[in-house]
Amino acid sequence: MPTTLTRSYLSDRISALQESQTIAMAKKGRELAAQGIDVISLSFGEPDFQTPQYIKDAAKKAIDDGYTFYTPVPGYPELRQAIADKLKRENNLDYARENIVVSTGAKQALANVVMSLVNPGDEVIVLAPYWVSYEEMVKLAEGVTVALIGTLENDYKATAEQLEEVITERTKLIMYSSPCNPTGAVFSREELAAIAAVVARHPQVHVLADEIYEYINFVGEHASLAQFDEIKDRVITVNGFSKGYAMTGWRVGYIAARPEIAAACEKMQSQITSGTCSIAQRAALAALQGGRSSADEMVEAYRRRRDLVLEQVKDIPGFRTPTPSGAFYIFPDVSAYFGATTSDGTEIRTATDLAMYLLNDAHVAAVTGEAFGAPNCIRFSTAAADEKLVEAFRRIKVSLAKLAVS
Ligand code: PMP
Ligand code: GLU
Repeated sequence: MPTTLTRSYLSDRISALQESQTIAMAKKGRELAAQGIDVISLSFGEPDFQTPQYIKDAAKKAIDDGYTFYTPVPGYPELRQAIADKLKRENNLDYARENIVVSTGAKQALANVVMSLVNPGDEVIVLAPYWVSYEEMVKLAEGVTVALIGTLENDYKATAEQLEEVITERTKLIMYSSPCNPTGAVFSREELAAIAAVVARHPQVHVLADEIYEYINFVGEHASLAQFDEIKDRVITVNGFSKGYAMTGWRVGYIAARPEIAAACEKMQSQITSGTCSIAQRAALAALQGGRSSADEMVEAYRRRRDLVLEQVKDIPGFRTPTPSGAFYIFPDVSAYFGATTSDGTEIRTATDLAMYLLNDAHVAAVTGEAFGAPNCIRFSTAAADEKLVEAFRRIKVSLAKLAVS
């Protein structure tokens, strides 16, 4: 008898898990493109630059030099050392090789930490708007997400006072990204100092500081929460190569944490994936040895595009957009369009409805803010060629103007 696979056949865990909305929207965009429709995809957060040549060359050399075997689970010692050196040189953080675990992307690094720290029922405060995968990772660990959002005027950044109010004795972890995906907000040293003071008062709380957009910063200063000595042991810094070095496909990320947490992540990884790809690790080592000048060139382009897009968005009625200080997204509040109707009489009730309308009418793919814990907003990636960005926002303006706003 043939087996019928039904949804109930699957575990409750996987049934409750949502597909990543960034990836789902990119997939929808590709499907329309395959039908011959000229879709401009601003949904996926991915640098549109090639990986710098010297990094590619190092990968080719790695193959020829015989880096083809299983790698040590926490990463090659020389890469872990180069990461520790980078953290000292650029972030003034003292870590030894033992504190570093290299993973298959920052995504796995984050998941390792969440799985290693969160018990069922533990509360995880996630500073919103947050990157889509945080909430789902917490769900996998059977934790409870407590989203905390600041005001639009403060670029949605939660303040230390707001944080103090939501911490309970069940709070286990706080997660945030700075520069932030999706808002581009950057926490200043003073803001982090105030947050560190709150965390210092709650010894049961750890913090996951996701710094993957570190290099894509238009205001200059990047501060790390682990720089505050009184809480350093309870901060796990996450970073990686995908954004700063345009190495999304290579899948290399890492954590820096105290040895017990690093060992826990290593144990997790030893059962799930083993060490990260040998060739990608050698490429990552070359990336660090080459410094950050290739990133600086890309950042100039991201800054130009941010300004270009803000200029376009300025004359879109009803879009309220904080100015991003880093990363490569803009995240307007679009709630002025809720209640509007399309020419066929369909009502736009949510940001998801509006994102779908823009995909189908303007052929521009973006991601609903619902996936980021900000249901009034939509995320557009600005990591696309200038002409594409101009054309995308021209189309968006035309499509929005067709809506009947009540
Ligand atoms: N954190 C944030 C905030 C991100 O935007 C991304 C990119 N998807 C990641 C982590 C994961 O990056 P990767 O796995 O490509 O290193
Ligand atoms: N960081 C990207 C984004 O937010 C990559 C997609 C993903 O890994 O979810 O779109």
